[in-house]
Amino acid sequence: MDFFTHFIVPFAILTLLKVKGFTVKDRLSGGFGGISVDFDVIFFAVGFLAPELFIFTHRGITHSFIFGLVTAIIFIYIISRPSINGFISHLIRRDIKIKFNKRNVILAYFGVLTHLFLDFLTTGGIPLFYPFSLTRYSANLYYYTDLVTAIVALAVLIILYLRLDPKYKKIALVGFMIMLISFGGIRADAKMDTLQSQTLSDGYNQITAYPTSDMFTWTVVESDGGNKYKVFTYNTLQKESSNLREVNNLTVNNGSYESAQEAIKYANTLPEVEKFHWNFPHATINATKTDSGWNLTYSDLIGNHYEPGELSVVVS
Ligand SMILES: [Zn+2]
Repeated sequence: MDFFTHFIVPFAILTLLKVKGFTVKDRLSGGFGGISVDFDVIFFAVGFLAPELFIFTHRGITHSFIFGLVTAIIFIYIISRPSINGFISHLIRRDIKIKFNKRNVILAYFGVLTHLFLDFLTTGGIPLFYPFSLTRYSANLYYYTDLVTAIVALAVLIILYLRLDPKYKKIALVGFMIMLISFGGIRADAKMDTLQSQTLSDGYNQITAYPTSDMFTWTVVESDGGNKYKVFTYNTLQKESSNLREVNNLTVNNGSYESAQEAIKYANTLPEVEKFHWNFPHATINATKTDSGWNLTYSDLIGNHYEPGELSVVVS
C-alpha cells in the first residue's frame, strides 16, 4: 500500500470510532504510526552493501509486530522533538506538535498494526513474526500499490489539510474506507473466480493465484510440489488464460544431476542466495557446468516490485 493510505487508514478509524476524548492530535499519532514503518526505505543501502543483513530492507524488519513497536517509539520520539515538529509545523502551517508519551506511542502502534494488516494483504508479504521467524506472510489479495487508491488517498489528505468543515473531512474519510474495502472485496471475488475456473493439470497438485496491478488479472502458479511449475495469466472478465509456460525447478546443463545438487546445497548457504529465496518464493534454477565450476542462475517466476528477479552465482 502507498504512503498516503497508510496515514489515512488509522487516522480514519480513530476519527470514525466514536471514542470520547479523542482529539486531532490523537488521530495524528495514529497516522504517524501508520507511516513510520515505511521509513525503512532508508535501509536500502544496508541490504545492498551487506546481503546477510537482508532483513534490513523495505518491508523487512520494521514490518513485524515487535520491531514495528520499536519503530513507533523511535518515530514518535523523533517527531515530538520541538526542533523537528516546530520546523514541519512552520513549513506546512499546521500544528503537528505531539508529545512523547505512552498514550501517543500506543496510538502510533495502533497505526503500525493497521499498516501491517494492509501490507499483509498485499503480495510479497511481510515477516510479521521476526525475529522468531523469517517467514513472510501474505494474503496475496492486493498488489504492492494501487494507483487509483494512491491518487484518491492523496486527494483525501489534501481535504484533511484544508480548513474545511469537519463534516466534509468525515465524508472523505468514510468514502475512502468504503473504496478501499470494496476494492478488497472485488479482488477477493476475482481471486476465488480464478482458482475455481482452473482444473489442475496432470501431475500438478498445488495452485496459487497472485495479484497483479489489474484487479481482474491474476498470475496463476501450479506446482507439483517441487519439480516443475506451470505459470500463466488469467483474466476473470474475459475468462481467458494467456502467457502459459511450463518450467522445471532445476535445469542441469553439461554436468551430472548429483554434482549440480551439491553445488546448489552449497550456494543455498550464501547470503545473496538466501536473500533471493526470501524475496522470491518461486524461483527456478539453471545450473551449467563450466571449466571453473557450476554457474547457477536463479530466476523468479512471478515478479517482485522491488528486487531484480534474477541472480547468478558461481560455485567452484
Ligand atoms: Zn509497508
